[in-house]
Amino acid sequence: MRQDGKAGTLCGAIDLGGTKIEARLFDAAMVSVDLRRVPTPRTDFAAFMVALVDQVRWLEARAGDAHLPVALSIAGMIEPATGIATASNIPVTGRHLGAELTAALGRDLPMVNDCTAFAWSEAHGGAGEGARSVMGLVMGTGVGAGIVVDGRVPPRHAGISVEIGHLGMPARALARHGLPMWRCGCGRDGCHENYVSGTGLRRIAEWAGLAETDPQRVAALAGADAQAARVMEIWADLAGEMLYAAQLMLDPEVIVLGGGLSNIACLPERLSAALQRLRLGDARLPAIRRALHGDSSGARGAALMARMGQTC
Ligand SMILES: [Zn+2]
Repeated sequence: MRQDGKAGTLCGAIDLGGTKIEARLFDAAMVSVDLRRVPTPRTDFAAFMVALVDQVRWLEARAGDAHLPVALSIAGMIEPATGIATASNIPVTGRHLGAELTAALGRDLPMVNDCTAFAWSEAHGGAGEGARSVMGLVMGTGVGAGIVVDGRVPPRHAGISVEIGHLGMPARALARHGLPMWRCGCGRDGCHENYVSGTGLRRIAEWAGLAETDPQRVAALAGADAQAARVMEIWADLAGEMLYAAQLMLDPEVIVLGGGLSNIACLPERLSAALQRLRLGDARLPAIRRALHGDSSGARGAALMARMGQTC
């Protein structure tokens, strides 16, 4: 915690995404009290910086505090040793984003991977409160994760969060369902993300010949339609493979689910059952829970990190 008496006051987060730059202000109880979204300039770095600085200034003005604790949540990574950013859909790759922002603002802002921010939020006053190790798993358009152990982010050598979406889906899992190896946006073949994300669920539905391919509607149809139920079974089995990989490597006590797919009915139960079928021996399973702080959990985590003076 900060030792200067500022803990417990307002704080803010800037969520840098491929479609919008969202500024969000939180009160002392970490309740979101104001927000402003602007479109992300996706190709022009100078325009991107102008939009970003303007969002920070807006937060400072709303709070009436030029020193408002603010952190940046980024869908990408910042290499700790060099400060160089890598992100898809945001024009910052290869840039010293932190140094450029410090020069523009006249002060340093902490930066954190968006999935790590989500895990932080859920580990501190969220669905993982009280657990020693919390993995936050965000399943939306893509798949990403973050880990918090004993209330802290483990040191990152290259600034990589838990990029479990870009581990390869085991050949056994694809063979089990007769699924092809699909090319990932990262340039590799057969990443988990291609099957387990919302985009992946849509693709499995298309592959299975479903007329309805919207992920939420496929999930809703599964109670009445055998083909939709089969698609959901395949999807949950593949998601279980991803959780199995997470358990083998990170062995978290709690896995907290976020992102658009986390709203699917009975998802924690479905994924727990899938992981139980795959588990190694009698290994204790992690608890799988939905996020407590909804869509703004990642921003909440970043703002909380800023308020606590946490960097990672
Ligand atoms: Zn990939």
